[in-house]
Amino acid sequence: MSDVSRMRPDTQYIHAGSRPDPATGAVSVPIYQSSTFAFRDADEGAARFSGKDKGFKYTRLGNPTTAALEEAVAQLEGGCGALGAATGMAAVNTVYLTFLGQGAHLVATDSLYGPSRTILETEYVRFGVDATFVDTADPANLARAMRRETKLVYIESPANPTLKLTDIAACAEIAHRGGALLVVDNTFASPVLQNPLALGADVVLHSMTKFLNGHSDVVAGIVVAKREEELVRLRKVHQNVGGTMDPHQAWLVHRGLKTLGLRVERAQANALAIARHLEDHAKVDWVRYPGLESHPQHALMKRQMRGGGAVFSFGVKGDLEAGKRLINGVRLATLAVSLGGIETLIEHPASMTHASMKRPDREAAGITDDLVRLAVGCEHVDDLIADLDQALAKV
Ligand SMILES: *Cc1c(COP(=O)(O)O)cnc(C)c1O
Repeated sequence: MSDVSRMRPDTQYIHAGSRPDPATGAVSVPIYQSSTFAFRDADEGAARFSGKDKGFKYTRLGNPTTAALEEAVAQLEGGCGALGAATGMAAVNTVYLTFLGQGAHLVATDSLYGPSRTILETEYVRFGVDATFVDTADPANLARAMRRETKLVYIESPANPTLKLTDIAACAEIAHRGGALLVVDNTFASPVLQNPLALGADVVLHSMTKFLNGHSDVVAGIVVAKREEELVRLRKVHQNVGGTMDPHQAWLVHRGLKTLGLRVERAQANALAIARHLEDHAKVDWVRYPGLESHPQHALMKRQMRGGGAVFSFGVKGDLEAGKRLINGVRLATLAVSLGGIETLIEHPASMTHASMKRPDREAAGITDDLVRLAVGCEHVDDLIADLDQALAKV
């Protein structure tokens, strides 16, 4: 087969990591549902464990179905390799465990995905890791927070659910000047819209539960390294700590990945149209979507992304009750957390996904009580707008 990595992204989503099965010719990579792999003889077994023979040994250490998905995502993000993980949080933990330790310091975006922040504040602190959370939308805040012991700068852009952007190239410069690595959680943008490694990041991770799988039926994660040096360190921790993927799970995600380009394109077009509609709606106080000209970082979006994405937040006029009436009034959008699926989901972060944050931290991060998050799917946009209109009419 020709070298897909040199082709356009739309072709890569479909073909990356896929080749007819050498044993049977199966066009879809088979699900190698096996925990262990037989060796021909003692020498082959020894060669596999010494690394001279790259063949498979045991599924926690590698599996052909998972390897096909890892190859695909590494290619889409422009990395040297990837490690599939049981969940997005397993991927986050592998990154923290690999690069942080006693006395290490990390600087992260303040409105980080809830558990990604909580485990630093409640678990990693027990092992002597210190974390500082700043609004990385202004890189000067990051520069001020850097210390001699800073090992990791960890950012999310767009941030959840504030939709604030962080200048990835500027953060890479600050991190590297301070001798730290830059890690980007790219879940919200997906590789269709943003490639952090090309902007200077060292490691990228995803909750594949979201856009990469795209069908709200699997939880999964992945870590992608730009260089072999970090990949080797990450792999050692990941395989031993054990948050690796199951082959059936990997097969489902790889199946979803093939339509990633089509889904993100459609969902993003829907999101832009809905955001424009709500911006003009009498019952809506504000809309925050990087694809709108009114977003304060619209220019940065154009510089580092290929569109504003498929998730945005808005505030309904009135109090928390008004927001609750909207959420209870929708019929097509589903009241559920998560995002990046083909179906549209709506949620209230202050009482749901970000309820574990302390109120002052939550408010400092811009997650106000009136904020409603809409994760736009691939339905017909007119049906989505009609649904929100009828729900807003009841507010
Ligand atoms: C969902 C999510 C995670 C965690 O992923 P799980 O698959 O739920 O473990 C991490 N980061 C972001 C930005 C997410 O949206």
